Order: sequence, then C-alpha cells, then structure tokens
Amino acid sequence: MRKKVAIANWKMNKTRREAGQFCQQLNQVAAELTGVEVIVCPPYTALDLLAEQFSGTSIHWGGQNCFWEEKGAYTGEISPWMLRDLGCQYVIIGHSERRQIIGETDRDINRKMAAALQAGLIPILCVGETLQEREDQLAKEVVRRQLEQGLTDLELDAEGLVIAYEPIWAIGTGVNASSDDAQEMIGFIRDYLAAQVGQAVAGDIPILYGGSVREDNITDFMAKPDIDGALIGGASLDVNAFAAIARSIADA
Ligand code: PEP
Repeated sequence: MRKKVAIANWKMNKTRREAGQFCQQLNQVAAELTGVEVIVCPPYTALDLLAEQFSGTSIHWGGQNCFWEEKGAYTGEISPWMLRDLGCQYVIIGHSERRQIIGETDRDINRKMAAALQAGLIPILCVGETLQEREDQLAKEVVRRQLEQGLTDLELDAEGLVIAYEPIWAIGTGVNASSDDAQEMIGFIRDYLAAQVGQAVAGDIPILYGGSVREDNITDFMAKPDIDGALIGGASLDVNAFAAIARSIADA
C-alpha cells in the first residue's frame, strides 16, 4: 500500500531560532500524526537543527535541492551525500522556482535525481505546467516531458521516489487547482509511470498535489483516488496550519 505524505517546503524562510521553535511545537503533536509520512524541508542553514530535534521521532527532514556531484570545486553547491550526512532521507528536486528563477533544465534535474538516488536519498520530483501552457492545452505534454526527461535512465521503485504535481500558476498564489483537475493530472502521471515500471510499482509511488494547499482545501484533494498527500509551501511556515493539514492527510 502506498504511503500518505505531507511535506513542508519552507523555501528561503526561517532563522535558526524560528526553525527551532517550529520543531519544538511540531514534536509536541507528532504523536497525533500517525499514518502519514511527515517531512520538513528547511533551508540548508537549519538542517542540523532539524536533525537534532527530530532524531528519534517520526518526523523526517530533507533538502530543498542538491547538486549532482559528490564533492569537488562547485562553489556554493551541496551534494546529496552531504544531505545524507545530516540525516536527510529526502530531497526536493526540480521545484518550479528552481526551474524558473534559477534556470534548471530537465537535464540538470535528471542528473540531480540520479545523484540523489545514488546517495540513498528519496527524491521528491516536482513537475507542473505554467498557466499559459494550461490555457494552450499543453499541460499534459509538458508534464510528460518533465517526467520522461527527469526520470531518464533511473531505476525506479515505489519506496525510492515521490512525485509532486505542482501547477506553477497555483504555487504561492492562493489559487489552487480544482481537485478534479489535480486528480486528472495525477491519474495521468500514475498511468505514465505504470507504462514505465508496471502497474504494481506505479500503484505504490506516492504522488502529491502542491499549490496553495490549506487546511480548508486539503480534504477535497485527499478525497481523490490518486492523490496521496501534499507539498505545502506558504501554509507550512505556520506549525499549527501544517500540523492540521498533515492530520487531514492522515485521516483521509
Ligand atoms: C511549494 O512551495 O511547492 C508550494 C506548493 O507553495 P504554496 O503552498 O505556497 O503554494
């Protein structure tokens, strides 16, 4: 059976002090969060703190990005092996902000995916279309290309991969996709994966929705058969909001 997942993506937010407060508060309610894999992805500067606070608890932590080499002359980069060294189990790869603002290509993302898997991390591959692409009826074509290129030459198993469908127009805008549209695309993603790795494996890969998820809309998404949880940006900065969303995912 595939797992349900709630991921906090803090993006470039929170000082170490703020991160510490969040961890303490989340730890207080961690016992209520059974039946959902809870993962917090802070900026690199707080990862050691999360490792300290969440070690021995049910909460996991991960990076928001990584480089594709293990070590060397790559100023400013962090390797997946370094994330492992900090106890990370997960890493977000191909977030649309990295694709759009930093200019990451599908080829870069594929190299990062390969390195993350080699280092023993579970990559969370983000895919999703722009508003223009959706209006031009190209959404599925774009997502298919991102999957095809992002997953090229990788050996996939259900325990070693999470996919997040995040329509770019829904990220940080307050305008979420409808649960029907999210289900349609996530069903399409699962069918694509089934064609690559077989129905049994594809059926067990967690596929999440991301884009303006809140306490008041998560239940609609979770009512859909192929949606296994959420990648949460803005709302994950507030520990109570994040915990409430994670609880709704667990209860669905
Ligand atoms: C994200 O950061 O991936 C995201 C979905 O952000 P938000 O929840 O703020 O839309």
